Amino acid sequence: MPSSLQDQFIKKEALFGAQNYAPLSVVLEKGEGAYLWDVDGNKYLDMVSAYSAVSHGHSHPELVKIIKEQAGKLAITSRAFYTEPFGDFLEKLTSVSGFENVLTMNTGAEAVETAIKAARRWGYKTKGIQENAAEIIVADGNFHGRTTTIVGFSSEDSYKDGFGPFAKGFVEAKFCWTECGLNESIKSFEEKINKNTCAVLVEPIQGEAGIRVPQNGWLKKLREICSKNNVLLILDEIQSGLGRTGKLFAYEHEDIKPDGLILGKALGGAMLPISAFLSSKEVMNHFNAGSHGSTFGGNPLATKVASRAIELLFEDNLIENSNILGEYFKSKLKAIDNKIIKDVRGKGLWIGMELEESDINAKHLCLMLLNEGLLCKETHKTVIRFAPPLMITKKELDWAVDKISKVIRSV
Ligand SMILES: *Cc1c(COP(=O)(O)O)cnc(C)c1O
Repeated sequence: MPSSLQDQFIKKEALFGAQNYAPLSVVLEKGEGAYLWDVDGNKYLDMVSAYSAVSHGHSHPELVKIIKEQAGKLAITSRAFYTEPFGDFLEKLTSVSGFENVLTMNTGAEAVETAIKAARRWGYKTKGIQENAAEIIVADGNFHGRTTTIVGFSSEDSYKDGFGPFAKGFVEAKFCWTECGLNESIKSFEEKINKNTCAVLVEPIQGEAGIRVPQNGWLKKLREICSKNNVLLILDEIQSGLGRTGKLFAYEHEDIKPDGLILGKALGGAMLPISAFLSSKEVMNHFNAGSHGSTFGGNPLATKVASRAIELLFEDNLIENSNILGEYFKSKLKAIDNKIIKDVRGKGLWIGMELEESDINAKHLCLMLLNEGLLCKETHKTVIRFAPPLMITKKELDWAVDKISKVIRSV
């Protein structure tokens, strides 16, 4: 039960806010590294990381310093002018990623919309698709954000209910998952490709769907059929990117390169929202002045922080830590070996624990873990997602595993 102090704030959200989230009953006040504190001073280990936006840890001292300095100097200009931080950021992100061009937005959904626009323009103006006929193939179980266009091609009813009519031009193929093997999934994509297909848009690992990791070789095969058919392969790495899976980008596990890449979440160094669409000049050159934009996109404050956040991925060893500790954490979770656990899966520090269907659902366990000082969040009814900040230590993970196994053994 939340204290009366916490209850005050919970009530305010219930009274004055829209009810589009169902938060766990804890009111947070402060964060530092992998830890969070509530308004009563209770301390928690963060296993959610704001859905992987807090890879650098909370209030990274260097990023706090940079954001303060830049906020006191120049924060918002709009793209009506040039600024130093923006140019530096573009140079940094292209050199680290190997993509030629970057277009910055603020939230993930906006960067996905940018990718859709880019793919369609490329389809009409380079591939020669007939006007208004372009199609983009997506996977079932996808999550790409919350705009009306994006939820229109979701397979999740709760995302769509009452929000239609939806945009045309999206076709669904089968993600490679449990009952759908690699060849069957690839076949379903291949069957949907026609002369009007401009792009395939997928997540390399589906996060919101419950950390669904496709079979090895799936992305490589997708890359092959896209290349063969002159279709752009666009990867949404908003959640999987920037070290979360133990590589800078999840596609590196398969040794391929997409034609377009979408980033967000951790790009802002756990300080502010910034997102980006990356691609070749061939694709990006279809944007001209007036064709796309965002008042805040590429602002000096966000780009100054993001440039340093990119460097810190390497300097703070976040990618390697995710890789090594991710394997360690996964093996420890697998070793809990209890009949309520159906599956433990994931890559890097991004792990889903799926429970057998029973009276104890994932939300119950998250509430019990909260009482043990561990902040976790369920996805759907049966999956608990563990995605701690990438700077977490082995000692902290050992502590977490103790608590998780204690809670699981108690039910
Ligand atoms: C979070 C997420 C988005 C949406 O990002 P927002 O910043 O919430 O708009 C899109 N795609 C994936 C894979 C995500 O995890």
